[in-house]
Amino acid sequence: MTLLAAEGLRKSFGGVVAARDVSFALAAGEMLAIIGPNGAGKSTVFNMVGGQLRPDAGRVVLDGQDITGRPPRQVCRLGVGRTFQVAQTFLSFSVAGNVQMALIARHGQTRNVTADAAAMHRADALALLARVGMDGAADRPIGELAYGDVKRVELAIALAASPRLLLMDEPTAGMAPRERAALMRLAAAIARDAGIGVLFTEHDMDAVFAHADRILVLVRGSIIAQGTPEQVRADEEVRRVYLGTTGLRAALRARRHG
Ligand code: ADP
Ligand code: MG
Repeated sequence: MTLLAAEGLRKSFGGVVAARDVSFALAAGEMLAIIGPNGAGKSTVFNMVGGQLRPDAGRVVLDGQDITGRPPRQVCRLGVGRTFQVAQTFLSFSVAGNVQMALIARHGQTRNVTADAAAMHRADALALLARVGMDGAADRPIGELAYGDVKRVELAIALAASPRLLLMDEPTAGMAPRERAALMRLAAAIARDAGIGVLFTEHDMDAVFAHADRILVLVRGSIIAQGTPEQVRADEEVRRVYLGTTGLRAALRARRHG
């Protein structure tokens, strides 16, 4: 069952076509990766799906409903979550408090927050924190946590909105390689268990090929290949244009010396 369909998405900035005729489908519980060099248009595609950017052409369809051009808050309410950057969490708040705020927002209770906000959705917040392995730090200010731990809490905050689709645009940016692999493994396990569809991008190709069910390869705004990790790895054009850079260099070096 198709959860998200992107149909012929196009976006230009001045003379630069950041995305052209981008079409793909994502099923519930599926992990779909978008890879491509810097400037390929990955974030542009994320932002068109999340409502931060309105496409020049094409449609975004969520579970059969056309959500093209809806503002981010509406898109979020319809079940599209995304992991945010550190700046968007409240640094002086406790870890649990941050997740509770997200739960309060999801239940539309922002105006009802009173002196006992500290108790609101506390148990649900602790359960989400346990899911990402951070319940032990529930009462610490989030600003005291190590960077990798903040990323885990951000995942819990994203899950607090009960998304059907989760957008993760370079969720592990700035993390050490071992932490990256662990966060991706965690996100993949949670998404599978909960049947959440995930659209993600990630610089670490090992993480992409280990966790994606399918991969889209974007180059200068166009999809040049899509398929399973095996299909994409074996694709001639992908190897030539993208994965093949080091191979090409090695080949040129061999020729020079040959
Ligand atoms: P990626 O995420 O794959 O690195 P982006 O989607 O951020 O790529 O960018 C794709 C292209 O669109 C780049 O050439 C970038 O400079 C351009 N671009 C992206 N956002 C904007 C913007 N808000 N204004 C102007 N140009 C932009
Ligand atoms: Mg980007």
